[in-house]
Amino acid sequence: MQESLKIYVDRLKNGEEETITAKLDPSLFDLKKEDDVSAKEPIQVSGKAYIAGDFLIVELDIDTTLTLRCSVCNRAFSFAIHLKQWIHEEPLEDIKHGIFEYGVVVREACLLEIPLYPQCGVSLCLHRDEIEKYLKKPSEDSSKQEDKSSHYYPFADL
Ligand SMILES: [Zn+2]
Repeated sequence: MQESLKIYVDRLKNGEEETITAKLDPSLFDLKKEDDVSAKEPIQVSGKAYIAGDFLIVELDIDTTLTLRCSVCNRAFSFAIHLKQWIHEEPLEDIKHGIFEYGVVVREACLLEIPLYPQCGVSLCLHRDEIEKYLKKPSEDSSKQEDKSSHYYPFADL
């Protein structure tokens, strides 16, 4: 684990703030080849850490780019992540040996940004038109599906 990922809680006990500026290696994501997500860009983090009551507060801007796979056209595309003033609160009693390694929570924060069905455009797949002709048209008369006389055989003429 990189030294820069550690926050030494004892140094903050007197109301001090620790400034965090780091470029984290994308290996932090620890992704597997079979995952639909890959990370090649470093993760830029900047912000601060301080103690408030019984919590260590880590407040960061997080910027990185992941490569995702479009859920519609299956093409790989770049997905930028820009988190502003993202805040993590860690109970001091959960911090072992006075050292909090924030890489884990940064990783989690980024992965949570990934949509359930990523699409390669900003909000929609850019190649939808190519795909749509292969997609089944939504049934226009789903209410009649119980009606045995109107069975629809999409491949009957193949
Ligand atoms: Zn797409």
